[in-house]
Amino acid sequence: MKCVTCGKSVSRDEAGLTRKLINRGTSENLCYDCLAVRFRTTVPALHDMAEAFRQAGCTLFC
Ligand SMILES: [Zn+2]
Repeated sequence: MKCVTCGKSVSRDEAGLTRKLINRGTSENLCYDCLAVRFRTTVPALHDMAEAFRQAGCTLFC
């Protein structure tokens, strides 16, 4: 998987978060840096978000 914006390889967490933030059916994957730009947030905030989803037992994050 590669980030559609910068071409960097995307981790499972990043791919999962992309689905949460855009929608479940999207075929786009974005890295944390590009997600932060697109959603006007910060990379640490995205890490926290991924962690919160994981703790909630979301199947996109294992
Ligand atoms: Zn990127």
